[in-house]
Amino acid sequence: GKGPYDPQNIFAKILRGEIPCKKVFENEWVLAFHDIAPKAPVHILIIPKNPYVSFMDFSATAPAEEIAGVMRAAGEIAREQGLEEGGYRLITNAGPNSGQEVPHFHLHLLGGKVLPIFAH
Ligand code: 5GP
Repeated sequence: GKGPYDPQNIFAKILRGEIPCKKVFENEWVLAFHDIAPKAPVHILIIPKNPYVSFMDFSATAPAEEIAGVMRAAGEIAREQGLEEGGYRLITNAGPNSGQEVPHFHLHLLGGKVLPIFAH
């Protein structure tokens, strides 16, 4: 969750266009694309264009304008995906205990069904 940013992580490669993704949204702050292993009918990853290792890093160091931009985009994507009526889940994994796999901060947007509670 902390530590130096690894520019060879998979999302950095997606941002550079070295690996393809199924893009659903892009603006000055974020890129959003479908998760390769979806855990719900809608499972979109929303990532900042700038290099943050995790939410720990992003929340502590990103300018307020960027934090607002990323969160505003997440809401806009959920709305565009038609998720406001049924509702959705927005989560981020940060660090070892969360199971974070990719060391580039990302939000998971999940929806399209009644989602399981997964507190364990
Ligand atoms: P984390 O466990 O770090 O919170 O979530 C990483 C997510 O990235 C997982 O849901 C995983 O399926 C997804 N993922 C891993 N590699 C790729 C990839 O190459 N492309 C896409 N679109 N998603 C990926």
